[in-house]
Amino acid sequence: MQPETRDPNTAPGEIHRVVVIGAGTMGHGIAQVCAAAGCEVWLSDVSAAAIDAGLAHIQHNLNVAVQKGKLTQHLADATRARLHAEPDLRVAASLADLVIEAAPEQLELKRQIFRTVTETLPSQALLASNTSSIPLRLLTDAVPRPDRFIGLHFFNPVHLQSLLEVVRAETTSDETLASALQFAKRIGKEAIVVRDVAGFASSRLGLALGLEAVRMLEEGVASAADIDKAMELGYRHPMGPLKLTDLVGLDVRLAIADTLAREIDPVRFAAPQLLRDRVAAGKLGKKSGEGFYKYES
Ligand code: NAD
Repeated sequence: MQPETRDPNTAPGEIHRVVVIGAGTMGHGIAQVCAAAGCEVWLSDVSAAAIDAGLAHIQHNLNVAVQKGKLTQHLADATRARLHAEPDLRVAASLADLVIEAAPEQLELKRQIFRTVTETLPSQALLASNTSSIPLRLLTDAVPRPDRFIGLHFFNPVHLQSLLEVVRAETTSDETLASALQFAKRIGKEAIVVRDVAGFASSRLGLALGLEAVRMLEEGVASAADIDKAMELGYRHPMGPLKLTDLVGLDVRLAIADTLAREIDPVRFAAPQLLRDRVAAGKLGKKSGEGFYKYES
C-alpha cells in the first residue's frame, strides 16, 4: 500500500501514526498492539521476509484471539487493515507521530537507524527505543530532538504482556513523558517510569536471575527443566529463567549481559561461557528451534 502524506494538522503530542522499525520478535508485537488501539502503523525492516513473517505472526495472533472469543472478527479485520509495510525507512519516518525502534540490541546499528530517521522525521514527532539495556544517553546525540526521545521497553509476547517500562533520559521533556504515559494507557499497558541506567529495572533483575540459572546449568547443579521448576513451583514464577531466556532469545540476553557488564559491573554481569557457546552455535532459543530446550517448528 502506498503511504499517504502525514496529516499536518496533527497536534503536538497526538499519536495517530506509528512507525515500528524492525519486524522481529518485538517489532511485530508492538505493531499489533498499536494497530489494535486504533493507530495506523507502518512496519519497516531491512528484510522484506521479516516484514512478511511479522505480518503473518500478527494475523496468527488475531486468528487465535478470534477463535478464543477474545476478539470479534470485525475488530481483528480492522486491526489488520491498519497495518502497512514500508521497507524504506526514510519514507516511513516522514509519516510518523511516533517512531518505535525495535532493531537488534547493537549500539552502532541503533545509532545509524536514528541518524537515518532524522533525515525525514517531522519535528513534532516522538522517537522511542525498545532497547532492553542500552542507556539512552548513548543514543541521544544521534536523534534529532533529544527532548522528544524516550525509552518504551515492551515485553514479550507484546500482545499478551501488560507491562511497559518507560525510560526517561536526562534530556526527555515533561511533555514527552506525559505523551508516552498517555500512549501507554491507550494501548492498554501498565507503565512504570525508570531512570536511564543500563538495563533499567526489568532487564537488570531478569538478567541477574537468567545468568545465574545458566551458570547453575553449566555447573551441573540440576537439569534445565528442574532449575526452571524450582522457580515456577517454588517461587510461583510463571516461567523459569531458562525457558524465559529461550523466549527472549539467547543472543538478545547475551547482548544485554555485555552492556550491563560494560556499564555496571563486569563480574556481576559476566556472560557464562555456555551462553556464548550456544549463541555461537546458532542456538538462539525458541526463534531458532533450540536454546536450552528444543522446539517443534
Ligand atoms: P529480532 O532479532 O527478533 O528482530 C530484529 C529485527 O530488526 C529483524 O527483523 C531484523 O531484520 C531487523 N533489522 C536489522 N537491522 C535493521 C535495520 N538497520 N533497520 C530496520 N530493521 C533492521 O530482535 P528482537 O528480539 O525483536 O529485539 C529487538 C529489540 O527489542 C532489541 O533492542 C531487544 O533488546 C529489545 N527487546 C527484546 C525483547 C525480547 O524478548 N526479544 C524484549 C524486550 C526488548
